[in-house]
Amino acid sequence: MSKPTIETRSFQAHTKKLLDLMIHSIYSQKDVFLRELISNASDAIDKVRFEALTNTDLATDGKIKLIPNRAANTLTISDNGVGMTYDEVIEHIGTIAKSGSEAYAEKLKELGKDVAAPDLIGQFGVGFYSAFIVSDEVTLETTKAGEKHGVRWHSKGDGEYTIERIKPSVHGTTVTLHLRAAENADAEEEALPDSEGDFTDAWTLRKVVKKYSDFIAYPIVLDVEKHEVERDADGKVVEGGKTETKVVEETINSQKALWTRTPAEVTPEEHNEFYKHLTHDWTAPLQTLHFHVEGTQEFTALLYVPEKAPMDLYSREQKRGLQLYIKRVFIGAEVKELIPEYFRFIRGLVDSSDLPLNVSREVVQQDAVVNRIKKTVTTKLINFFKDLLAKDRAAYEKVWAEYGQALKEAFHYDPAVKDKMADLLLVKTTKDEGWSTLAEVVERMKEGQTALYYLTGEKFDVLREAPQLEVFAKKGVEVVLLGESIDEIVVSVLDKYKDHELKSAARGELDGLPESAEDKAKQEEQSDKFADLLGKLKTLLANDLADVRLTTRLTDSAACLVAEEGGLSPQLERIYAQLGQPMPEQKRILELNPDHAVVSAMSQLAQLAGSDEKLKDFGEMLIDQALIAEGSPLKHPARFAKRVTDAMARAAVTGV
Ligand code: ADP
Ligand code: MG
Repeated sequence: MSKPTIETRSFQAHTKKLLDLMIHSIYSQKDVFLRELISNASDAIDKVRFEALTNTDLATDGKIKLIPNRAANTLTISDNGVGMTYDEVIEHIGTIAKSGSEAYAEKLKELGKDVAAPDLIGQFGVGFYSAFIVSDEVTLETTKAGEKHGVRWHSKGDGEYTIERIKPSVHGTTVTLHLRAAENADAEEEALPDSEGDFTDAWTLRKVVKKYSDFIAYPIVLDVEKHEVERDADGKVVEGGKTETKVVEETINSQKALWTRTPAEVTPEEHNEFYKHLTHDWTAPLQTLHFHVEGTQEFTALLYVPEKAPMDLYSREQKRGLQLYIKRVFIGAEVKELIPEYFRFIRGLVDSSDLPLNVSREVVQQDAVVNRIKKTVTTKLINFFKDLLAKDRAAYEKVWAEYGQALKEAFHYDPAVKDKMADLLLVKTTKDEGWSTLAEVVERMKEGQTALYYLTGEKFDVLREAPQLEVFAKKGVEVVLLGESIDEIVVSVLDKYKDHELKSAARGELDGLPESAEDKAKQEEQSDKFADLLGKLKTLLANDLADVRLTTRLTDSAACLVAEEGGLSPQLERIYAQLGQPMPEQKRILELNPDHAVVSAMSQLAQLAGSDEKLKDFGEMLIDQALIAEGSPLKHPARFAKRVTDAMARAAVTGV
């Protein structure tokens, strides 16, 4: 055998920085280090239990042991989990993801270091390093099942670590913390009111484990000394007899998997702790849904709505899904097959009694049981949100504000649920700055109004001022404003809400609006008066437009552009282009306001011989203005700018 060698390695710069932060800027809740190390031990046992499904040599009676040593001022946390190889120690313990440590440091700065810092540790995948909050030296010894060597890793948190091969032991990992003096000095406790005191003290350890790790599925045990006094044959204490001290293992967590309990009996505090353990999030969940399903399929689900959407909620690569357990054995994290795409922001788990334990990823992907679970989870969630909307509007609006955009994807991925999802939609409208349901908008519909009008665009404040809305404002008809790109898909899939056709305010003819007999008479008169202008513009602008017509849509603006009935809106055109499926450009209809001074003037111009060039010019300017007003880009912005300044110059000369 080759001579044992000790290798000394330096931490990368960002790791050093993180260690510094751990050591120097965390003053409260130092006890989270124990939660992190226990959580790692528990993860490691999860993994070995999973491997044991196919390798019967592995121990599956997972156990996490805490060994305090007051004389040496150390605390040891040991597990019989998977353990690590030499390379894995370098990769997982010697290195931390730069992104994680930087995100953590950023967050600390943002919060003003101490505030919620310890709570953040787990979230950024820097949990192991929290050991240095309380230790000035950390030793990790680990053996991976089947390896010829064990590995010892040691560091003082000062910029480097050593690593060496040692004799192997049973698979698992032992982390020994040499506690900082202050952690063990009772005198310091008063100076640090939040300090959790002595981590070699059994009472302290019991308290911390109860607080953070009670639901860990494996026993967390503590060696405790039992003093037994000598007794005689009758069991009476012998006066002046010997006292024998025995060390016994005491399990200090209840181990009860939270989800197996009766939902009504789990307290919000327990959910909070469990949620943090599950997600590494540091804020409490917005909502919790916990249920058991019995009958042809049996499973339990525990689902949480996080307070904040993850940064990558809309990225294609984002990994999401639920944890899968089978009869309380952990099978996999992020099992996507358990929940539909549009609920990907939900975190939690499913524990099934119907699946075989040796289920593989491939099986999960097409398994009928898994599919049924997904269906039930979907229905339960939809009903849950429906209830929430009815019973606690403010809470539902919070969920909507954070995840509404993802929920709308249901219309795309799962049209079968479109009617149910339509009831969950919250929208902004021309009448209300806040959120309304479609049912509320229908409730407010005008006498004589049959269709439900909407306008899509990119920004609410641009939408609110769109010229297409003028007639609706005049008639007091409410229009739903849809400001997200996904909305185009929602309206095209939904089509109708409770028998009311969904109609774009910027498309086709305006019908379904209340209209008076006078209005109609006036329109007929005007179509005669403007016939020449319309005819000429149609020919002159045939390259850009499908049609030119008069409209009742406008009251203040001179012109607007609308799509043909059934045509694509400019937003939808842009969405298709972004998806890499550009559509042939659609010609739209220029609608003119017969009551506008410019339109009257143009109508007179149309009567004059040789006015075509000017008419074409004006027509193009109207098109450009209409594009600007709806927030669409111009084809020739510089040309438009020049025409406007020319017009201004002429107006200034004539002194108008
Ligand atoms: P995280 O748990 O978020 O991955 P940590 O810093 O807590 O981040 O741990 C880093 C990695 O080190 C773990 O993902 C795991 O691979 C490894 N590790 C830590 N503790 C143990 C342990 N007790 N047994 C096996 N592997 C461990
Ligand atoms: Mg961890």
